[in-house]
Amino acid sequence: MKNITVVGAGTMGNGIAHVFAMNGFEVTLADISEDALQTAIKTIDKNLWRMVAKEKISNEVKDEAIENITTTTDLQSAVSKADLVIEAATENESTKLKIFKQLDEFSPADCILASNTSSISITKIGSVTSRPDKVIGMHFMNPVPVMKLVEVIRGYNTSDEVTSQVMELSKTLSKVPVEVNDYPGFVANRILMPMINEAIYSLYEGVAGVEEIDTVMKLGMAHPMGPLQLADFIGLDVCHAIMGVLYNGFNNPKYAPCPLLTQMVTAGKLGRKNGEGFYLYNKETKESKVSPSFA
Ligand code: NAD
Repeated sequence: MKNITVVGAGTMGNGIAHVFAMNGFEVTLADISEDALQTAIKTIDKNLWRMVAKEKISNEVKDEAIENITTTTDLQSAVSKADLVIEAATENESTKLKIFKQLDEFSPADCILASNTSSISITKIGSVTSRPDKVIGMHFMNPVPVMKLVEVIRGYNTSDEVTSQVMELSKTLSKVPVEVNDYPGFVANRILMPMINEAIYSLYEGVAGVEEIDTVMKLGMAHPMGPLQLADFIGLDVCHAIMGVLYNGFNNPKYAPCPLLTQMVTAGKLGRKNGEGFYLYNKETKESKVSPSFA
């Protein structure tokens, strides 16, 4: 595989493009928004510089990585020569199904179509294409250049051959792939999101405050981040959407999103990305403190 197309240039898309470009692949980064593409290139450049400063990569690798990336808002041309497409667009089922129909139409017949979805069914995504055997989940973790895991999700029809190709490819990126089956939330979010939701319930029911809950999990369970801080980092809208997928997918009330989470998303408190969630974030100083709503 040589030509990789990443669809969606947001938080995850720019990280995925960064990692492939740094490993010598020709990367086309596509988005519907020109602004998103420009921001992505700036972010990749900044993150590559950070790696140079930490002596993790040389200046040459950084320059080559930037040269390996082209951007476009034209999906058809973006995928016409792709060996692998990784979709990392907004976590919305109808958006993804629409994108995959187009990918199936515009990409070469032998191209593998992967999704970075956090929770949407790979089997369902594959079912809107004429090649469900070549549709697979490639779930990178945030921040992509740092996190080692790739959860490789086999849909009901994904072939053994495509699964092993994607497992091997992930290893060439110095990642550790783990193969899982396609059930709601896969493994990562099936375990992580109910924990985050339970932490929000603990706050909602007044069991403890924001810092207390996060401190218990950091010092007591050796988690590098507390669950409320992590929820802010992931985005409360993303957490809410994934709880919805678990709730509907298993038809089980134990996955119902905490009313406080729903309330915060409705109020537009989405976490770090827009300045406030359980914590309040200062863009200039990069400092954070517990949001006044919970102090
Ligand atoms: P984001 O909101 O940062 O970026 C999404 C991008 O998709 C935006 O730039 C948007 O313009 C673009 N987009 C929307 N519709 C499109 C279309 N039709 N064609 C092309 N581009 C389109 O989202 P994100 O956090 O990067 O998440 C992307 C995917 O990765 C989601 O499926 C999400 O569940 C998954 N994911 C997110 C995280 C995380 O921590 N944020 C972790 C793992 C997986």
